[in-house]
Amino acid sequence: MISVQEASNIIMKAARPLGTITVPLAEATGKILQESLAADQDFPPFDRVMMDGIALNMEAWQNGRRVFKIQGMQTAGAPPLTLESSTNCLEVMTGAMLPQGTDVVVRYEDISVEDGTARVNIEELEGWKNIHKKGTDKQKGEVLLAKGTPISPAEIAVLATVGRSMVKVSKWPRVAIISTGDELVDVSEIPEPYQIRRSNSYALQSALHEWGVAAKMHHLPDDKDQMLEALRQILEDNDCIIMSGGVSKGKRDYVPEALDQLGVQQLFHRVKQRPGKPFWFGTAPGEKAVFAFPGNPVSAFMCFYRYFRPWLLLSAGISQDRQFAVLGKDFEFFPDLTYFLQVKVKNQDGRLTADPVAGRGSGDLANLLQADAFLELPAEQEIFRAGEPYPLVVYRA
Ligand code: AMP
Ligand code: MG
Repeated sequence: MISVQEASNIIMKAARPLGTITVPLAEATGKILQESLAADQDFPPFDRVMMDGIALNMEAWQNGRRVFKIQGMQTAGAPPLTLESSTNCLEVMTGAMLPQGTDVVVRYEDISVEDGTARVNIEELEGWKNIHKKGTDKQKGEVLLAKGTPISPAEIAVLATVGRSMVKVSKWPRVAIISTGDELVDVSEIPEPYQIRRSNSYALQSALHEWGVAAKMHHLPDDKDQMLEALRQILEDNDCIIMSGGVSKGKRDYVPEALDQLGVQQLFHRVKQRPGKPFWFGTAPGEKAVFAFPGNPVSAFMCFYRYFRPWLLLSAGISQDRQFAVLGKDFEFFPDLTYFLQVKVKNQDGRLTADPVAGRGSGDLANLLQADAFLELPAEQEIFRAGEPYPLVVYRA
């Protein structure tokens, strides 16, 4: 049996470079940018009027002029007008290009208009007031987004502003989600008294969905021959397989044997952890990865977030720093295993605090609703004190 750290290292070493794909901007959210992006022009691209009002020449103001003849109106989206005389002003609208010959904008709130002239009613005025000067935010050519950036609405705004209607992003692996077990029925079915619905497959599919990874579901019975046949095809059609169930010591736990027969090389089986001890991981030719999680819902769920998600992100070029939280209450755990304690995370005085909501074991999937994360308590320690920081495996923001 290997430690959590060893298991994690082996998995991260098996991260596979993903290809790239170009998608429309509207489909890019949640994907990982696979190109670096520079400003195609200055930000803002012209001296932009920031307030509705009048634009005038600062020198005239400095020479004591307070009344200006309104020469015309500069609207947003129109080519710039030119101030004909410093005794004039131009009405300007927010978003308009600053008229030539002007260098300050006075808000409507600070002027009064009568008979085609504007009187400025304030005493203090600074040059370039209410003007967002060209190139003050970013300059043309400056790198705005690095390769490997996850695309959220903020990145979408910047991609749109630099004119990217198509974006190069990571091509996710083809993922298959496989449930195993003769006691499992689909979500739409009414289970017999000795059956349950297969919740793992839906939980895993949903977790993948958060990253825009589409995965197909399969169900395999606890029958070695049928499993072999189906798995052979699924392996061929996918880059990555996430299984749940069938990796423990039961008489019908055929998964490791079947994978072995299909040429998937076992890199480990069993990890010093609770939940999720029977976790099996291996790779097959073609850089295919097989994550075979134990069937208990909390185990499969935890293993996905602790092992699969970092593997997927690293494959896309992202290595994330681990987040920590301090334990909210003393906790004891004696077995020589890393304990993934279910916790409710709150922000206390600016620090993330994790309160134990231990639940009733790895089958207690309803307890996932009470918690937001797992706190990773190291195997070599038995007493965990309130206030001590430990790594966090978050599944709910
Ligand atoms: P196994 O790892 O196959 O021994 O399964 C351990 C426990 O998890 C059993 O009680 C199974 O019924 C349950 N289980 C296995 N797969 C799933 C699944 N897809 N959804 C919900 N429970 C499952
Ligand atoms: Mg089973």
